[in-house]
Amino acid sequence: MKTNFHTHCQRCRHAFGTEEDYVRNAVAKNLDQLGFSDHAPFPRYDFGNRMPLSELPDYLKTIDELKQKYDIPIFKGLEAEFHPMYQFYYKELFEDYKIEYLALGEHFYTKPNGEIKNIYFAESTKDYIDYANAICQGIESGFFAFVAHPDLMFLNPFPWDKNCQKASELIIKSAKKHDTILEFNANGYRRKQFPFPDGERYPYPHMNFWNMVKNTNIRVIVGSDCHEPHQVFDEKVELAYQTVRSLGLNVVDTIF
Ligand SMILES: [Zn+2]
Ligand SMILES: [Zn+2]
Repeated sequence: MKTNFHTHCQRCRHAFGTEEDYVRNAVAKNLDQLGFSDHAPFPRYDFGNRMPLSELPDYLKTIDELKQKYDIPIFKGLEAEFHPMYQFYYKELFEDYKIEYLALGEHFYTKPNGEIKNIYFAESTKDYIDYANAICQGIESGFFAFVAHPDLMFLNPFPWDKNCQKASELIIKSAKKHDTILEFNANGYRRKQFPFPDGERYPYPHMNFWNMVKNTNIRVIVGSDCHEPHQVFDEKVELAYQTVRSLGLNVVDTIF
């Protein structure tokens, strides 16, 4: 099956196109399933780069209407940060808002002292351990169908070291224990290759991480993480599929 469960739209203020623009592209590219996962708004805390909470009902209603209008199965999801104080909210999203899945897209994480930090600005690879622990807590919460870009931390300009190894092990071990899908994110391929201290590479996916996943039987899904309609299933998604297949990962095509 041809699918994508990591789809944004203009509501997050940094993607382009309406929900319907993405559905039209999915239909044009013969996708069998499409899942929407725009960045979830949160009550009381603004992580930025997302729709206001007041717009959430309209986002969900729009997807419901598209489900009726198009033959392609469409799923109603959100990409959300994990924070333990929001357990009530994840429940509410499923029970009251009737979403069908959550992707764990950790951009912000909580340090043991309670401080909320952005992984885009890690101070050293020591921060990766806190970040990985936050992802593990998210996995353990049981709310998330898959972990979006579990190797996002490697966009920081540090060479691979024992903290990178340890943080990767923590995430992989937790995904294995809880049978949670890991996403191989094609959006990393849309960024350029950079001269990192440990060589020229994409910010993510990081091959060291995925070589470690290879030795497990963890399910891996390719996610487009499209922020423009034409990216729903573009050449970067194709490249991601080529890579996961050549690595011999346990690739799955659906999260349901
Ligand atoms: Zn985004
Ligand atoms: Zn995303």
